[in-house]
Amino acid sequence: MGSKLYIGSHVSLNAPEFFLGSVKEAISYGSTTFMFYTGAPQNTFRKPLNELRIEEGKKLLKEAGMEEDKLIVHAPYIINAANKVKEGQFDLSVNTIISELRRTAAFGAKTLVLHPGAHVGQGVEVGIENIAEALDIVFSQDGTDVKVALETMAGKGSEVGIRFEEIRQIIDLCSYKDRLGVCLDTCHINDAGYNVDDVDGILDEFDRVIGLDRLLVVHINDSKNPIGAHKDRHENIGYGYIGFDTLNKYIHHPKLDGIPKILETPYVNEKPPYKQEIQMFKDGKYVKDWRENL
Ligand code: FE
Ligand code: FE
Ligand code: ZN
Repeated sequence: MGSKLYIGSHVSLNAPEFFLGSVKEAISYGSTTFMFYTGAPQNTFRKPLNELRIEEGKKLLKEAGMEEDKLIVHAPYIINAANKVKEGQFDLSVNTIISELRRTAAFGAKTLVLHPGAHVGQGVEVGIENIAEALDIVFSQDGTDVKVALETMAGKGSEVGIRFEEIRQIIDLCSYKDRLGVCLDTCHINDAGYNVDDVDGILDEFDRVIGLDRLLVVHINDSKNPIGAHKDRHENIGYGYIGFDTLNKYIHHPKLDGIPKILETPYVNEKPPYKQEIQMFKDGKYVKDWRENL
């Protein structure tokens, strides 16, 4: 049938070309979609939208046959709406998510990936309640139709969202359920203890607990660590514990048809690996020792 494969990587958004540069970078990898941060991943400092060359980027995006509404934005890591222990963290998180949703909408994107948060000793249940409370405030105020995709986490530290059940509980507690979806990260679920090799089993489990209709994006990463390690260290495709064959099944699985697949694998000797990794997935064929020829 040959339905369109939406595959890409995270790309940078840097001066001087900003979003125009992001689109060019994605094109250089042979991507059909991509993910970006609208500023540095580590902080909430954000350049005003009118400096980001959004219209030029959108024009090139269209010429390249990519679709705005398949683009993915990732929220900064320092958001932690689960944390009500640290003074100001909850309010900062709420305000940052609102701002990120509005910024996401300006690019024409429909999906903002968000790490649920870390309970920092308050316990998973309290963490989940805090996150749901924050999201209700966010969705009552942001004024967009952008969805939040809660990312499945590896379980390092006190991260919430390690089990599908935890994500489901956040959705259950939130009043704006139609604004919530999920980002499945293959490295994270492996590290969280799921048998990522059993692709059909994972997707059945996801469907049973959360519902596949909520799956908005899949992060395709190999893992430097074995199942259950709770580490969250991404590895290049074929060089980790998951391997190409399993990851390729997620890329081409009929149940994941139309869902963007995004690579967040590490640079190799300061060079991006994405062109090679994307090509292998498009071909459905692994190239042995590909990293040697970057
Ligand atoms: Fe993430
Ligand atoms: Fe991820
Ligand atoms: Zn990760």
